[in-house]
Amino acid sequence: MAPKLPMVAMLPSPGMGHLIPMIEFAKRIILHHNIHVTFIIPTEASPSKAQISVLQSLPKSISHIFLPPVSFADLPSNTKIETLISLTVLRSLPSLRQTFRSLSDSYTLTAVIVDLFGTEAFDVAVEFNLPRYVFYPSTAMALSFFLYLSRLDQEVHCEYNELTEPVHIPGCIPIHGKDLLDPVQDRKNDAYKWVLRNAERYREADGIIENSFVELEPGPIKELQKEEPGKPPVYPVGPLVNKDVAQTGSNSECLKWLDGQPHGSVLFVSFGSGGTLTSNQIIELALGLEMSEQRFLWVVRSPNDKVANASYFSADTQADPFDFLPKGFLERTNKRGLVVSSWAPQPQVLAHGSTGGFLTHCGWNSILESVVNAVPLVVWPLYAEQKMNAVILTEDVKVALRPNVGENGLVERQEIASVVKCLMEGEEGKKLRYQMKDLKDAAVKTLGENGTSTNYISKLALKWSNKSNVTN
Ligand code: UDP
Repeated sequence: MAPKLPMVAMLPSPGMGHLIPMIEFAKRIILHHNIHVTFIIPTEASPSKAQISVLQSLPKSISHIFLPPVSFADLPSNTKIETLISLTVLRSLPSLRQTFRSLSDSYTLTAVIVDLFGTEAFDVAVEFNLPRYVFYPSTAMALSFFLYLSRLDQEVHCEYNELTEPVHIPGCIPIHGKDLLDPVQDRKNDAYKWVLRNAERYREADGIIENSFVELEPGPIKELQKEEPGKPPVYPVGPLVNKDVAQTGSNSECLKWLDGQPHGSVLFVSFGSGGTLTSNQIIELALGLEMSEQRFLWVVRSPNDKVANASYFSADTQADPFDFLPKGFLERTNKRGLVVSSWAPQPQVLAHGSTGGFLTHCGWNSILESVVNAVPLVVWPLYAEQKMNAVILTEDVKVALRPNVGENGLVERQEIASVVKCLMEGEEGKKLRYQMKDLKDAAVKTLGENGTSTNYISKLALKWSNKSNVTN
């Protein structure tokens, strides 16, 4: 009988921002090693078009399986995203077990990698005697916070946003409780319990793979790599960003339009795969972009007046977002601006020479994609850990400007116009651009031959392709 090929099982939890960096990691794992990667994807609905097209474009050694959708029929409609994500994984365990069984007929499973909310799957990994890893798709700062959370939870008795002193996460700049990630803002909510539970289970892992790099986050990475009893080794392997783009109708339209614009002149405006603004904020943003007199490419989604991550599970927008723009806006700006609905080929847009700035919701993938293309930022955090990311970018790494939120809760048009102008034309914008360029150079080095990130990836790939390291 032919020997079975080693296989690594990767389990991204729902959301493009979780899937994309894991795919990039998988691509590098298979590069020089005789190993197969299978994405086993827990779902709660049919996969989005963007998800399918990314997965279908992968090399032969990477396959994927969608697990049958779980039901949320029993959950209240205000259940938070972190609870939904964690429950998607928990409720998929029977089908995951089944999938592991059938994969084991043809392959030798050598490791299971879950992402930040996927540690419930560790139980199945243990049943199959498999090493367990966490792929952490966000900042080293957020990871440091996760590993610190259990202690904070015991020591602090109020809500974190009521603390009068900033929180000192090991290795990180001090941060106000109100800027910590969304799901820890209400400790009574189940979302907080799920974050805490996942964070505590990180200590069961054989290793944590972190999508960042030393030059970008020296403090937290140094701290994370200090050996401590009960803390798994941390491998900084970033910046892993996606270069191949989901094929949608707006792809060629965006890139063709950018081809016709002057070098470094366009501000790209996008709120990630799931970000939504309120209808009033869409109007302010449109009028602010118009007032700034800068060129822009804006990915617009229909508004949601209640939650900022309304499109999270599916980036396919519902109503026509163009209906929510101010009257006459498209006509007045059509010489300087392009507005597309729902989705743009972001990695290619950011790599395009005409793009000179990015107004971003601060998703970590978006930030890393800006870093590898040296594009400075305007930060507009919406949900998850994005406020923490905005603090890193403005106060620590200093590659971004942040508009102030007005008393009415809106970022007003004048503020938007002035920050955008400052980034695209001002002296400060220039400084941020230079700083980004240094980070870009460091990113190229760490992912180059013999770079630090590359070496960590090779070390892991070698471990997983060597079948004698596993017990099954
Ligand atoms: N993305 C894209 N086109 C869009 C919106 C998002 O290609 O119109 C990609 C983007 O390049 C990034 C990912 O989707 O790789 C979004 O991840 P991020 O961590 O920035 O934010 P999230 O969507 O997880 O909040």
